[in-house]
Amino acid sequence: MTDALPPGLSGLTPEALAAWFDERGEPAYRARQVADAVWRGQTGSVADIRTLPAALRARLESAFRFDTVTDTEVREADGGLTEKMLHRLDDGALIESVLMHYPARAGSRERHTLCISSQAGCAVGCPFCATGELGFGRDLEVAEIVDQVRYASRRLVAAGQRLTNIVFMGMGEPLLNLDRVLAAISALNDRQRFGLGARHITVSTSGVVPGIRRLTALGPQFTLAVSLHAARDPLRDVLVPLNRRWPVAEVIAAARDHAAATGRRISYEVTMIGGVNDTELDATAMAELLRGDHAHVNLIPMNPVAHTPWTASPMPVIERFAAMLKAAGIQTTIRRNRGTEVGAACGQLAAERAGEPAPPVVARRRARLVAESAAALLGERSHEPAPAGVGD
Ligand code: SAH
Ligand code: SF4
Repeated sequence: MTDALPPGLSGLTPEALAAWFDERGEPAYRARQVADAVWRGQTGSVADIRTLPAALRARLESAFRFDTVTDTEVREADGGLTEKMLHRLDDGALIESVLMHYPARAGSRERHTLCISSQAGCAVGCPFCATGELGFGRDLEVAEIVDQVRYASRRLVAAGQRLTNIVFMGMGEPLLNLDRVLAAISALNDRQRFGLGARHITVSTSGVVPGIRRLTALGPQFTLAVSLHAARDPLRDVLVPLNRRWPVAEVIAAARDHAAATGRRISYEVTMIGGVNDTELDATAMAELLRGDHAHVNLIPMNPVAHTPWTASPMPVIERFAAMLKAAGIQTTIRRNRGTEVGAACGQLAAERAGEPAPPVVARRRARLVAESAAALLGERSHEPAPAGVGD
């Protein structure tokens, strides 16, 4: 846990920071000087905030951490277009963020998108996801979420570039750490702090219905992406185990209400797994489920993940699936995955570090997935309960 450590500065609201200085009899502009150092420029530590007297720097340094993301290993892929960051947090927890560069093309400006983590590990346990295999570690602090962005932003600024988009598609289920994710988004969105427009922020969920409904009540905020993966309950029970708690119809109903209340289109993500969720039966079921909705479907070939019996669907199969959705009037795109050769599927680097499970454990896991997905293809629902810690 990080409870014993001083809080990260970027996780403090401007009011909390101002109160800290006020309680110590310091003038209000001191808080602004610190906020400037946290949010602007390339300052790396409290010691570098030269506008503060030395004694105040010392007090600040013992009360807060300037940065909670300090130990980072970077790997490049796609000829430098993808940078995968593995961050070791102060309690040893490993998390990942991925920076993707999209050069300018006719009709679109250059973009730099950062994919960030909201938890170390994940309790949902989707079997095609490396984070799911790791299991749940802990929720990230607000500062730990925000500092992934500060890290990438400093890197971009040093190269004369600017972060344009943030997606919560790294490790963890953001809607199961929703209070902190919302506080982090406020900081990222606030003009006095990071200042990125809400339209440039996307939160992805595997279908935590009460969380979606809470977001809907907040009104138009950021883009919501729902990881759908399958339209039929028997198969989605296997691919997204919390479907046993909130079945697909409830997820879609919540997503529809969100779209109606916010006027924002819902984005559905489908990881395409060869022979598992890419059949004509599945395309037909998905077309029926989404027909008439203000939705966009993204089909993404599965990134290879160790210890699964599965691989990506072949491109012609994905194209046929896309064509069937489009024929039903559903906007559909195929997204190429990034950084496959450095293990850019979320959680893959951290899983590598966690070490190899014993061969019999891997063999049992594979056999169980093959049996479960075979049953699901025939339309049988699993009788396993939802994963522990989810949906209580
Ligand atoms: N927990 C949230 C957000 C993080 S996962 C969610 O599931 O939506 C972000 C996205 O990465 C999800 O759409 C997830 O299905 C996808 N993903 C996970 N493992 C993958 C893999 N091996 N190949 C392709 N996409 C994967
Ligand atoms: Fe968790 Fe998302 Fe991975 Fe599923 S896909 S295990 S919800 S991080």
